[in-house]
Amino acid sequence: MKIVVKIGGDLIKEDSINKSLIEDFKEYAKNKELIIVHGGGDRVTEIATKLGKEQKFVISPEGFKSRYTDKETVEIYTMVMAGEINKKIVRLLQSFGINAIGLSGFDGALLRAKRKERIVIIDEKGRKRAIDGGYTGKIISVNSGLILLLMEKGYVPVISPVAMGEAFEPLNVDGDRTAGAIAKSINANILIYLTDVKGILMNGEVIRKININDVEKLLEKIGPGMSTKVHAAIDAIKGGVEKAIITSGFIEKPITKAIKEEEGTVIYL
Ligand code: ADP
Ligand code: MG
Repeated sequence: MKIVVKIGGDLIKEDSINKSLIEDFKEYAKNKELIIVHGGGDRVTEIATKLGKEQKFVISPEGFKSRYTDKETVEIYTMVMAGEINKKIVRLLQSFGINAIGLSGFDGALLRAKRKERIVIIDEKGRKRAIDGGYTGKIISVNSGLILLLMEKGYVPVISPVAMGEAFEPLNVDGDRTAGAIAKSINANILIYLTDVKGILMNGEVIRKININDVEKLLEKIGPGMSTKVHAAIDAIKGGVEKAIITSGFIEKPITKAIKEEEGTVIYL
């Protein structure tokens, strides 16, 4: 079985490490089943602010929230994502005996993306407006061979959402989308989003199981952060991934419970 796990930024802060998540990682790593993709946008914002580079966020008409990524921002983004955060996760996993290997989308041309020339946003007055896309991209190819090669040799790839554009420029790509694109490209069985809520919430309740058609209809009621995961999950399932599970990374054995469908929201074909 191949399992792609995307971990959200909140999960990897030093003071909130879930030991049983690490045990889960260890178990699935032992069977050569695990690939990790991480986020960390909050830390990027924190460091950028310290560097005197105020971050701007934009919301698309579909409700996606994204960082407005100019040249300076993409440099900081790369430093933090592919540097500090990625290496911190690798060290953490290594300290528990997991042979993790950190990769950005540049390494081995792992993630190639097409730069977004223009993006449509909703401005302060609620009007649609097209602005320059900056250094953000949409993944167009994944070097799946490299991932599979490493897994076969017993390494756990830990991948940061930084991609290489057509002109070899660095691009900010969404972490949730990256996990979905990777899951599709390696024909993963399961895609798991570990986040800070128990699943997709609707009127205060967690949706336990839902197919892609039904969840698509709910999308307009799902807010930023969660809607990206849902879009990426639908896309991955249409691309052959058996199921996606969105669940909290703070519970006991979150991966095992997700796979057994005991926790979180299961999205299926
Ligand atoms: P991550 O770092 O895991 O990507 P995000 O903050 O980007 O975390 O996404 C998770 C967040 O999505 C939740 O904390 C919640 O605030 C938000 N969200 C918006 N709509 C919903 C919804 N319908 N159900 C659950 N969470 C939602
Ligand atoms: Mg997010």
